[in-house]
Amino acid sequence: MGTLKNKISYVTGGARGIGKSVALGLARSGADVAVVDIDMKTAEGVVREIEALGMRSMAVSCDVTDPADVSAMVEKIVSAWGRLDIAFNNAGICINTPAEEMSFDQWKKVIDINLTGVFLCSQAAGKVMIGQKSGVIINTASMSGHIVNVPQPQCAYNASKAGVIQLTKSLAVEWAPYNVRVNSLSPGYIATEMTLKAPEEWKNRWVDLTPAGRMGTPEELVGAIVYLADDTSSYTTGMDLVVDGAFTCM
Ligand code: NDP
Repeated sequence: MGTLKNKISYVTGGARGIGKSVALGLARSGADVAVVDIDMKTAEGVVREIEALGMRSMAVSCDVTDPADVSAMVEKIVSAWGRLDIAFNNAGICINTPAEEMSFDQWKKVIDINLTGVFLCSQAAGKVMIGQKSGVIINTASMSGHIVNVPQPQCAYNASKAGVIQLTKSLAVEWAPYNVRVNSLSPGYIATEMTLKAPEEWKNRWVDLTPAGRMGTPEELVGAIVYLADDTSSYTTGMDLVVDGAFTCM
């Protein structure tokens, strides 16, 4: 560990779940981490855990669907810490509704947070990184960007995550000349509030369909993110890294 020493990072959706584990993982690897979320009380708790590890941290309130919020978030980090090396655009939601019953508001909410939010954060972080001629952006996609999950109906989520994968590749191509790398992470079923609140019947089906025979933990994604954030992956850009217990192999 310690490979991210002196790196400045932020994690959206950093208050809990995958974002929290990755925020702590980045800090354990030596990075300063801004915890970005709409839930400031929980984010402050993560900040204290990061500071206890000896790294700098701050909680930044930001709704990733609001362009002004997103610009202010990146500006706050850069004015406090001088630069931005690692942007982990991770905030996301899932709404399970049959396509024929989905309201326009439900569709829009999922696309706004999961896809437009990733674009806005990538754009704000990318502007800083282009100026620096260095930086790494990692976007949380999902295996749902590759396959259609069952038994739950989640067409907006699946479409948003496929969008994140292609957005990531597009940004990687546009920004490679500036030494800004852009990759995505596609987890399989991970035990967080998002999935644990699902009906038992769904969770049993997910585990049955996963060759690894279980859901993953958020901690099991940290190595993938540290790898993508670290300079040892300097030729890795435009990649979607699938971490799913072999779910998508079948
Ligand atoms: P959680 O629901 O546990 O955490 C999501 C976090 O994002 C929460 O802290 C939430 O805040 C925050 N958030 C939601 N909306 C916004 C917003 N508009 N602006 C800023 N922050 C926001 O989810 P996970 O940790 O499970 O998921 C994290 C990411 O991983 C998501 O993109 C998800 O789609 C993806 N993913 C998850 C998988 C899983 O199995 N868990 C599998 C594949 C991908 P608040 O609590 O206030 O709502």
